Amino acid sequence: MPELILILSKNEIDQRVTSIAKKISDDYARSDLIVIGVLKGAFVFLSDLIRKLTIPVQVEFVRVSSYGTESASTEKIRLTYELESEIKNKDVLIIEDIIDTGLTISFLMDYLYSFSPKSVQVCALIDKQERKKKLIDIRYVCHVVEKGFLVGYGLDFAENYRYLSDIYHLKI
Ligand code: 5GP
Ligand code: MG
Repeated sequence: MPELILILSKNEIDQRVTSIAKKISDDYARSDLIVIGVLKGAFVFLSDLIRKLTIPVQVEFVRVSSYGTESASTEKIRLTYELESEIKNKDVLIIEDIIDTGLTISFLMDYLYSFSPKSVQVCALIDKQERKKKLIDIRYVCHVVEKGFLVGYGLDFAENYRYLSDIYHLKI
């Protein structure tokens, strides 16, 4: 049986999301902000985060696939749902669940920059250190872990566990 070890409780997540939402609201108070959620993993985080912002925001999604049903990156990144809105001259904030190697986020930033936005920054629920291959400036981070495979709060393993309210380390 896979074992779930609690990493971040829903109360801790709530506190961190609240504090990041405050920073984002301050930093983008005078701008035309579009948040772009990376499906599927970021959907719970994004929906909590935007409801704590005190500034207007436009919400878009993209979807990339790089993991399949495995827990180690295949390093083949594909865009499976493209951006549907104009982001030219707008301030873009990518909302991602986990930055692991950094390859996905760096691929996405290149993709978004090709539409000539005014700025592109990154907001991540989790920054995982151990396997970094690309050093990315992650402007907003909720939680940093060294390693391990995490599930819950939108994060899945083979499409399971997304519905959990807390974040767990999955030990197989
Ligand atoms: P990267 O390209 O940075 O290596 O991988 C990023 C993507 O891999 C994330 O968007 C996330 O979907 C997935 N990923 C990386 N680590 C984990 C993890 O611990 N748990 C889950 N559920 N997904 C992960
Ligand atoms: Mg992802």
